[in-house]
Amino acid sequence: MKPGVWIFLGFLGAMGGLGFLVSQRFEGSPPAVLAPESIVLGPGPNPLIIEIDDPDSGVRSVHARLLDQAGSRNLGEESYPGTLLAGSGPEGKRQLFEIDLDLEKLRVADGNATLVVSVRDWSWRDTFAGNRTELSIPVEIDTRPPRLQIVSGLTYMHRGGAAAAVYRVGEAVPQDGVFVDSIFYPGFPHPGGEENLRVALFAVPVEAAQDPSIRVVAVDRAGNQGAASFPARIQERNFQQSPLKIGRAFIERVATPLADSAGLPRATPTEAFKSVNEDLRARNEQTIRESLARESVQQPLWSGSFHQLRNSAVMSRFAELRNYSLDDTSISQARHYGFDLASTANAPVTAAAAGRVAYADDLGIYGLCVILDHGLGLASLYAHLSSIDVSAGDQVTQDAVLGYSGQTGLAGGDHLHFAMLVGETYVNPLEWWDAKWVRSHIEARLDPSPR
Ligand SMILES: [Zn+2]
Repeated sequence: MKPGVWIFLGFLGAMGGLGFLVSQRFEGSPPAVLAPESIVLGPGPNPLIIEIDDPDSGVRSVHARLLDQAGSRNLGEESYPGTLLAGSGPEGKRQLFEIDLDLEKLRVADGNATLVVSVRDWSWRDTFAGNRTELSIPVEIDTRPPRLQIVSGLTYMHRGGAAAAVYRVGEAVPQDGVFVDSIFYPGFPHPGGEENLRVALFAVPVEAAQDPSIRVVAVDRAGNQGAASFPARIQERNFQQSPLKIGRAFIERVATPLADSAGLPRATPTEAFKSVNEDLRARNEQTIRESLARESVQQPLWSGSFHQLRNSAVMSRFAELRNYSLDDTSISQARHYGFDLASTANAPVTAAAAGRVAYADDLGIYGLCVILDHGLGLASLYAHLSSIDVSAGDQVTQDAVLGYSGQTGLAGGDHLHFAMLVGETYVNPLEWWDAKWVRSHIEARLDPSPR
């Protein structure tokens, strides 16, 4: 071919390339901006990171401002490297832009505002200014803690016992309840139905420090925390110490197989018993906490007092400290957080009060075990059963048969281990068996006009 043809073909090629370049540089897809749909701002720094993606031309600039009744405030801007001819490099297709919404620096008042984020890319559109994306994000500014008003009066309670706190919160909040030192008991809507009236069942754990601090706390969506100390008098209580002699036969028959199936060390009788009484117990308590941590029913499912197992004799009381010895040597300790109730063998085990089955399965030292949720964070536990007649999720009425007594788990004979919990804390069932106590300490506070 003649050189002229080569030049002509080269010219065509160049035109084609140019055409391709022009069509590329006129691309019309605006940058994608990843940001929250709405923002709630509280006091202090509120760093916000916005992701900008523009795979075609690359990100060119970003500008953020806050609009409220007082006007518009610049929150920052940024220009990113690139050229009109080529756009950005590959590293400029994605940018992270940080905005510090520090309300003290910005001096904005509580109320509503709008965060406007405006982004351009390196396209030739819009007379070479680039495609534009503009987001208007509603912002709620709230720097005030929620108001709290305690409604229930002075509360007398026992160590190891429960109480109810009634309070009003000035606004609907995502989290409220009672702290006893560092243990949290969530609040629930008050059954009386009054808006923003709340009730929390709480307890003073057996192990709590002397004079624990009891506070009602509410945290709003902006993270502002309101707190009010709750007027309570705590009566101390001494818990029994009980020495228990255990024999090798019992360990061999009961503890060793339990350690075995839990995969715990069991080389000697002492090791097997310690494995079960300490490690397996801790594991089982964790399972109980987890199954109760799933949301409790929002209203009381029970009414009146709880029923003690029919015709049962109390064999062992709440919170006694058991000191186990083998051949006159102390080998392990555990606190007994329930009542041991003995009736006839294989006696029907009934629901102490109406509730919903939260757990119905084998549970290590507790053997076959049923846990009922009674609403408002209150639960009861039935252990060592020989068989279970209910399933998780079932609703049961008071005195309904849950199963039959037995000696599964860490038990020396047929009996029912019965325990009650408020939140994650074991409490004394004696209070809940006592109709007068339930009426004056709990139900009086669940009435439409709580005291
Ligand atoms: Zn027991």
